[in-house]
Amino acid sequence: MRYQSTRDSGLLVTAAEAIAFGLAPNGGLFVPESFPKLTAGKIGELVSKPYKDRAACILGLFLDGFEAEDLSRFSGEAYCAPGFAHPDIAPLYELDGNTRFLELWHGPTCAFKDMALQMLPRLLIASLRITGERRDVCILVATSGDTGKAALEGFRDVPGTKIMVFYPRDGVSDVQKLQMTSQSGGNVNVVAVEGNFDDAQTGVKAIFSDQGLSRELDERGFFLSSANSINWGRLVPQIAYYVSAYCDLIDKGGIIAGDKINFCVPTGNFGNILAGYYAEKMGLPINKLICASNRNDVLTEFIRSGVYDRNRPFYTTVSPSMDILISSNLERLLFELSNKEGAVVSGYMDALSKTGRYEVGEAAGAEISRLFACGCCGEEDTKKTIAGVYKKHGYLIDTHTAVAHKVLGDYRAESGDETTAVVVSTASPFKFCDSVLEALGEPVASSGSELIARLADVTGCPVPEPLKDLRSKTPRFNESVRTDGMKKSVTEFLVNS
Ligand SMILES: *Cc1c(COP(=O)(O)O)cnc(C)c1O
Repeated sequence: MRYQSTRDSGLLVTAAEAIAFGLAPNGGLFVPESFPKLTAGKIGELVSKPYKDRAACILGLFLDGFEAEDLSRFSGEAYCAPGFAHPDIAPLYELDGNTRFLELWHGPTCAFKDMALQMLPRLLIASLRITGERRDVCILVATSGDTGKAALEGFRDVPGTKIMVFYPRDGVSDVQKLQMTSQSGGNVNVVAVEGNFDDAQTGVKAIFSDQGLSRELDERGFFLSSANSINWGRLVPQIAYYVSAYCDLIDKGGIIAGDKINFCVPTGNFGNILAGYYAEKMGLPINKLICASNRNDVLTEFIRSGVYDRNRPFYTTVSPSMDILISSNLERLLFELSNKEGAVVSGYMDALSKTGRYEVGEAAGAEISRLFACGCCGEEDTKKTIAGVYKKHGYLIDTHTAVAHKVLGDYRAESGDETTAVVVSTASPFKFCDSVLEALGEPVASSGSELIARLADVTGCPVPEPLKDLRSKTPRFNESVRTDGMKKSVTEFLVNS
């Protein structure tokens, strides 16, 4: 199977090229030319298998040109202890008769980004081998928090790679900052940018498009690549956990094979829920994919009306990983809804960059309402939901997961659809302990690492292993640059190490 660009259906590349390039030359994103079928028989076979085998199976269906043996090995290495603290890797928690939480935060950084970023480095290295690339790769990341740490953990000490993360100096939580600045590994670097996330992101983009720098790095045997969710190598591992959740529901008796289920997904960049959409296209029995947004509700409006309009205020919320107005991966959905016509997608993306707005046609709108539902949840409701679920069930959820749980409740009340639903749980509550404590009515006067201990005291929930010794860690990286100094810190890092 080959991959095509969302902005030029005629451009075809192999799976290894799609992962090695990251982004298509014309600015498009790589998508599979067709979707492999997941038959009832195949799903049945996976029910008795552990997570790593389920993941290897899904990877194999998409990644032609990769050895099955390699994919099994990658999966075994990525999804195991001690990196993943739970033996089931992505366990389902049963809240009540028809509601489950799919816990995707048992990995080394306690957020769902680990599900993909523990796999991506292995896929990238294999892709470079397949495409005959001889240079070392330098991964550049601009992060608002979770991606940076997950990418650092994924690429730490991977031979043939270096990784450099830029984070906004005043735009991440205490826990997130200390997680990144205390990062171990001989091939890593972490730098604060004086500015907000957009400044860091713009700076990284400028470095990517700097031809002079690219020639200089080439002479030194390096090239630059990205670890964000536009890379196909991050999406394909995510399809696996939708399939795995379905298998677990059959296994534990929640459903019988063939029953349709709903998924409710807290969304920012549309990457997580897009993997669910792909699972449905492969034949996984899904009734509705419910797209949950926080106060930044650009996707809610789009799914309801077919109008995408980013001309609206940007809010900073207690679910910061979903504070986003340009959902990059929506482009991949638009491609499927436009009969794979690259020109149509290019038109939408042009309009988005020129006017901040586009509108899809009636047929696309009808397909969206067939499969998707949506809703948004404000700040007060997010906190009330955390407190409510904890009081009623003794189960602690983070702010992002709370948004999804609230939206599921609203959807059920409005539609009467009581189909078994899986809420995709994207972060450990300890990662956002200040907001979670506040939701539980606790004072939050102290700093990040003390709050972790406090949340454990108050709830009796164990602190996840990777966050346990955070308090005793001293920051290794304390460089801070202005955006115009970012390029220099990249060259210095690559020359001096
Ligand atoms: C990144 C992230 C999200 C949003 O995921 P998308 O793929 O961008 O939709 C939700 N919750 C948490 C905790 C995250 O880190």
